Amino acid sequence: MSKTPCDKSTIATNLAFIQQQILTFCQKYKKNADSIHLLAVSKTKPAEDIRNAYLAGQTRFGENYLQEALKKINTLSNIPIEWHFIGAIQSNKTRELAENFLWIHSVDRLKIAQRLSQQRPISLPPINICLQINISGETTKSGFSLVDIESVAREINSLPNIKLRGLMAIPAKTTSMHEQRETFARMNHAFRELQKQIPQIDTLSMGMSNDMEAAIAEGSTLLRIGRAIFGERNPGGL
Ligand SMILES: *Cc1c(COP(=O)(O)O)cnc(C)c1O
Repeated sequence: MSKTPCDKSTIATNLAFIQQQILTFCQKYKKNADSIHLLAVSKTKPAEDIRNAYLAGQTRFGENYLQEALKKINTLSNIPIEWHFIGAIQSNKTRELAENFLWIHSVDRLKIAQRLSQQRPISLPPINICLQINISGETTKSGFSLVDIESVAREINSLPNIKLRGLMAIPAKTTSMHEQRETFARMNHAFRELQKQIPQIDTLSMGMSNDMEAAIAEGSTLLRIGRAIFGERNPGGL
C-alpha cells in the first residue's frame, strides 16, 4: 500500500476544483449548493494528506477499513475532524465503529444497526447512519433492497442511540451518464418516499469521482469523493 503523501498544494487545488464543480453542476441542474456536502474519502492515504485537506478547509472524511481508520483517528485526534465510516461492516467490529465514528453510511443489515445502537457509548450523541441500498442488484454487493426499505427503516429508526439520516448507494460502474442518472433517480425516488414516512431523514449519500455530475443532477446531498481529491490509489483494487 502506498503511503507516499500527496503534495499539499495539489490537495488544496483539487478541493477547490471540486467545490467549483459542485457549484457549476448545481447551477446547471438547479440545485441548492448549500444542501450538498462533500465527504473526502481518504482510504489508503496517509494521515498527512488528511491533515492537509483539513488545513484547506475540508472537515468531513470517509474511511473504509477499520484498523487503518483507527490509526489515523488516533494520529489526528488533535484536530476536529468529522469521521464517517463507508466500508463493509463485520458484525464483530461494530463496537469500535460505535465508539469512534460520528456517521456510518454502510449499514447493510438490521443486526448491524441493532449492535451499533447497543454499543454506542452513552457519553456520545446518537450515531448517524445511512442504510446502504444494493441499487444495481449485484449479488457481489451487500445492502438492502428497495422493496422492503420502508419497514426496515421504520424498525431501525425506532432503535435508541441511532439517528437514521438516509440512504447510501454504490452503483455498478458505468461510464454512461444516462445509466448513472437512471440509477441515481431511483435512489432519489425511494429517498423522497421514505422522507414522507420519516421526515427527519435528510441525507442521500451518492456520487463518487466518476459519477459526481449525475449524482448532483439526481439530488445527492452528500458526495463521497476520493481520487479526485487525493489522486489515484494503488492499482489492485482498494
Ligand atoms: C472508495 C470509495 C469512494 C470514493 O471513490 P473515488 O472513485 O475515489 O471517488 C466512495 N464511496 C465508497 C463507498 C468508496 O469505497
